[in-house]
Amino acid sequence: MNDNDTTISTLKEKVHQLCLRKGWGVEGVQNPQHVAMAMTVEMSELLEHFQWLNPADVDALMAGRDPERVALIAEEFADVMMYGLQLARTLGIDVTEQVLRKIDIVDHRPPKSYNPKR
Ligand SMILES: [Mg+2]
Repeated sequence: MNDNDTTISTLKEKVHQLCLRKGWGVEGVQNPQHVAMAMTVEMSELLEHFQWLNPADVDALMAGRDPERVALIAEEFADVMMYGLQLARTLGIDVTEQVLRKIDIVDHRPPKSYNPKR
């Protein structure tokens, strides 16, 4: 399974099945307030892998010269995404609809004055 052959609905269900197997929440549904808070903790864990990097380190990441660090980032990214998918499932958020809606909003928003290249 990968991004090309898996739907977001399938991922939502796989995360829910994990919660059921682990006995997390009530019938696999955890309090969305707790899930949102846990998501920020995982986001912080993701950011730790970027803490104190110098521009050369970032260049190495982007050029594929630091696969070990990318693997650690990917693991924390997955944690963030799993909580996000769980939150979306619990609150009935359609991820595709909301992302497309947000893209449209940003697309029609006036440009901000600060626009770094990266
Ligand atoms: Mg983590």
